[in-house]
Amino acid sequence: MPTTGHCLCRDLTYEFEGDPLWVAYCHCESCRRHTSSALATFVGVSSKQFRYTHGTPATYTSSPGVTRSFCGKCGSPMSFAGSRFPGEIHLYIGTLTDPAVFIPTSHVHVTERLPWFDVRDALPRHDHSGSSSRD
Ligand SMILES: [Zn+2]
Ligand SMILES: [Zn+2]
Repeated sequence: MPTTGHCLCRDLTYEFEGDPLWVAYCHCESCRRHTSSALATFVGVSSKQFRYTHGTPATYTSSPGVTRSFCGKCGSPMSFAGSRFPGEIHLYIGTLTDPAVFIPTSHVHVTERLPWFDVRDALPRHDHSGSSSRD
């Protein structure tokens, strides 16, 4: 069974086969702005595993080589893709049909973390992009 996901209005639906490459929290300002939230939580999958099953996302180039996708109807942020990460698509975990099934294993870009946001977990924290979780 593939893993499925959708935007708020369900105009965009997707699926991917197999396990994610990684799952991580990103504290960078760009992700914060794109999600209008304190941080973003990503599920990184191979582009080869992934496909939209309905609709086509709108896109925004937030910095050179970085494409952020969202629903053009309801505005839900959907994903990040960057030229630094060829062959990967990074899905915002809240778009999954069941976001509970994959558990984040690290924090990246913690130098940009909001000072009032402190998760007292024991996961690895990376100043920039971690080796197993990159944005
Ligand atoms: Zn939508
Ligand atoms: Zn980020």
